[in-house]
Amino acid sequence: MSRLCCPLALLALFASISTLPAQTNVGAAFVRTPKQSIDQSYTDHIKQYTTQPYFNSPLTDYLPSSKTVPTPVKVLGDVAGAPGILPYAEDVYTYFRLLEKSTPRVRVFTIGHSEEGREMIAAAVADESLLAKMTENDARLSQLGDPRTINLDDAKAAELVKASFPIYYITGTIHSPETGAPTALMELAYRLAVDDSPYIQYIRTHMIVLITPVVEVDGRDRMVDIYKWHLAHPKEQWPRLLYWGHYVAHDNNRDAMAMTLDLTRNVLNTYLKFHAQVLHDLHESVPFLYDNTVGDGPYNAWVDPLLNGEWAMLGWNNVQQMTAFGMPGVFTHGDFDTWSPGYLMFLAAMHNGISRLYETFGNGGADTEKRILDPEEYARTWYKPNPPLPVVLWSQRNNNNYEETALLSTLSFFAQNGQQFLQNYYTKAKRSVEKPENAGPAAYVLDEPTSSREIELLRTLALQHVEISRLSEPFIYTPPAKPVKADKSDADKSDDKSKSEKPELPKPETFPTGSYIIRMDQPYSRIADALLDRQYWAPNDPQKHPYDDTGWSFGDLFDVKTVRVTDPAILKVKMDAVTDPNVDLGKVTGSGSVYAVNNASEVSLLGLRYTLKDATISVTDKAFDAEGHHFETGSLLIQNADAAKLKSALSEGGLSAVSLGAVPPVSAHTAAAPRIAFMHTWLATQTEGWWREAFDRMHVPYDYISTQTVAATPDLRAKYDVIIFAPVGRASTQLIVDGMPMWGNALPWQKTDLTPNLGRIDSTPDMRPGLTYAGVDHLREFVTKGGLLITSEDTAQFAIDLGLAPGVFVAPKGNVRVVGSVLAAAFVDKSSPIANGYGKDLGVYSANGMAFTVADTSVNRHITTEKDFKRPTGRGGPGDEDTPEDRPYVKAEPLPSPKPWEPTPLNEEEARNNVYLIPEQYRPDVILRFGSGKGFLLSGLLDGGSAIEEKPVVVDAHLGEGNVLLFATNPIYRGETLGSYALVFNAIQNFDRLAKPQSAAK
Ligand SMILES: [Zn+2]
Repeated sequence: MSRLCCPLALLALFASISTLPAQTNVGAAFVRTPKQSIDQSYTDHIKQYTTQPYFNSPLTDYLPSSKTVPTPVKVLGDVAGAPGILPYAEDVYTYFRLLEKSTPRVRVFTIGHSEEGREMIAAAVADESLLAKMTENDARLSQLGDPRTINLDDAKAAELVKASFPIYYITGTIHSPETGAPTALMELAYRLAVDDSPYIQYIRTHMIVLITPVVEVDGRDRMVDIYKWHLAHPKEQWPRLLYWGHYVAHDNNRDAMAMTLDLTRNVLNTYLKFHAQVLHDLHESVPFLYDNTVGDGPYNAWVDPLLNGEWAMLGWNNVQQMTAFGMPGVFTHGDFDTWSPGYLMFLAAMHNGISRLYETFGNGGADTEKRILDPEEYARTWYKPNPPLPVVLWSQRNNNNYEETALLSTLSFFAQNGQQFLQNYYTKAKRSVEKPENAGPAAYVLDEPTSSREIELLRTLALQHVEISRLSEPFIYTPPAKPVKADKSDADKSDDKSKSEKPELPKPETFPTGSYIIRMDQPYSRIADALLDRQYWAPNDPQKHPYDDTGWSFGDLFDVKTVRVTDPAILKVKMDAVTDPNVDLGKVTGSGSVYAVNNASEVSLLGLRYTLKDATISVTDKAFDAEGHHFETGSLLIQNADAAKLKSALSEGGLSAVSLGAVPPVSAHTAAAPRIAFMHTWLATQTEGWWREAFDRMHVPYDYISTQTVAATPDLRAKYDVIIFAPVGRASTQLIVDGMPMWGNALPWQKTDLTPNLGRIDSTPDMRPGLTYAGVDHLREFVTKGGLLITSEDTAQFAIDLGLAPGVFVAPKGNVRVVGSVLAAAFVDKSSPIANGYGKDLGVYSANGMAFTVADTSVNRHITTEKDFKRPTGRGGPGDEDTPEDRPYVKAEPLPSPKPWEPTPLNEEEARNNVYLIPEQYRPDVILRFGSGKGFLLSGLLDGGSAIEEKPVVVDAHLGEGNVLLFATNPIYRGETLGSYALVFNAIQNFDRLAKPQSAAK
């Protein structure tokens, strides 16, 4: 085949084109050194396991030998990428530590631990001369990374660049079923340390390659267990990897905004500690190598334009080099838009570095398999002139060849252009500091903290290494005038343009002493700006398939007022740096025996009930004022608390307490400590994993049970007060009830000698059985006996389908287009304790525009409303009533005109003998509804919104003595939606107080 034509000839051609910017004569052409012998056995095995010669390159089709440094065979028992071999994270580390012992060119660092306590490492690989200068080099890089330290002096920066070498950080297997990276990175480290060819020598003498071979260590070890089970049961179907990390699966690569997971924090801390220029994350889902460094638009709007150019340079160069090797199926333009900053690699893009991501091809294990591609995967396009093969025998060795060849060739290019990339690193950091004078804004201001939501937002910014300040004097800010755009219809009618474009008069605003300020003249201003600003995805954007969420504005999602200040005068106001946003917390003011903690829709209030279990705690039924403080309905009154425990719980929860002289004269009831169960399916656990993460972080305890447990437990109410059925993730009711088909073999998820890492979060001998109809009956009985069932998105649909939520229906979506957007919502019923502590409005995360409708009947039948009425042909004008001749006029019953969030009332005729009419005390209560008009979209994409405007999004349905709470949105999502957490926590705290008062039955 033509793609087999001599790679070296192509290389020579390529070298003449691509080495123009190189700093030395060492070109991209690769030549093995005759001075170094090869490891013949290893080389033979590479050849044996590579399914076609063109799935390898001259860079990786052999292994140089070393007398002192062990090859991966030492740990694996075979070569990297050999069939049937997947090492645990700990085995991978063993190898890296063997390298560290046997060569001065490798150093290994512990960079942190996972939620389940497993170690994460980074290995630095470079020539010993570079590693010896690591500390002094790092001192220079830290100055380039924070140009304030050299007074933004370009000449000084140029000297530093000249003296420095760059750091390139590679991370592997964040996605656990994408299994090839660890062995590829073991072998890559060996090659970088051992190979004496000029090509490799140039890399290791011009840069440090930093490698974290396993990012998701918990998931890796579970994946290896599953693979071992598969090898032991070769004829059987094997269980899918249900749990990756402790909380989430694929979404571990969507945490780079909220920084909720240990792996995200560990990687960012390492990336910044080493002052790396690149963060390059390795994935496997696309044939054969999609270097999505270039991807597709729209690009993130907050990155430095220099980064766009760097992406193009690196991406296209990589394709060009791989194409020169004759390796098919390599491309860099593709359907990945670079809009959301939620991906792990994007930590670099938001911190003045370069983000990169490879998708190579993998088999989800180490079996060699025949793979059949989709037509769109093997189609030839302008950016894929040599597309992947439509049918291919693929091995893990092929994967390792691609991964290593691509990395080595890009490292070579980076090493040759290291000076330029270091210069860019400085320029991007400098422009980040200069942001107030250039693009702006000057700063963001957060109101003085009144809630734990604001503290959590500050903590998130601190995890992003954003500097936070606090005003030590007030600042009066006058926002710039906004021209008011005339309504089109008005403009058409009016000739007076000046009238229609009259600017809105700006109202000055005073930020008091103590307000938190996020200055934009700091090196990491971009991430703060990207999180606190709003996003707009145009409905007519050429990109019709957003890759992920289109909006994420943290001020809206945390329900914290954040003001974007463009006036640079704010930077001159007196302020103090906040070294730790936690130090001001846990404040107790006043002196007395009763502590009052305000409920400002707090995220950490419910946790106090469990943390202070020996204290006497009551919940107020009304708002009240005491000793100069205002307390909302649902505030806590705490007595008999251990002072030290209280202080530490408040501090951790970001709460303040006022100590009162006596119990205030406000009606209150004893705070319940509801017994909570999380019910999960064996289909998917990721989306509910985010809920578990929030409950753990907020110290709210729960039992973790599965649908199978519920199927087998007749009296759930005896054990639990609240059952949470968080979203499964696009599961149908039938799938939840039936589970997986029962043909084939059992799929165990259990801890055994063969699979020591499975079954720790929950276990079952067979993942296939679902909730069953017995389980549905148990849930129904649980609710009718006074329990609270909490549902969201697909599980709300499930509750509706099974008749657990009388009078609640899913609204028809019409033409609405929402892709992970932030939408405005308004409270309908502030009297419900679910709304305790909230204001009038709330920004909510909507995945796809789901909304509800409510009715007074349990069947969803259309009832004629005023909107349906069309006057018939007859007398009078369009607004007049027709009056038939020859008989007295009889006025019709007025037609109802309900709001979109209200049920349509039935008239006497419709209500007569209607068995579906819900008794008044069991009719659903709408707590929150969507907004409307121009203010409906807060961030992201919204098109055709009229179909869901003002429709209910949070509804409390009544069934027997209990309740089913339904969310059309996801209130606990990716650690980003703290503003809506309290809807869930308030409902739990008040699970036994949600019944409609009998007086409400009119
Ligand atoms: Zn992936």
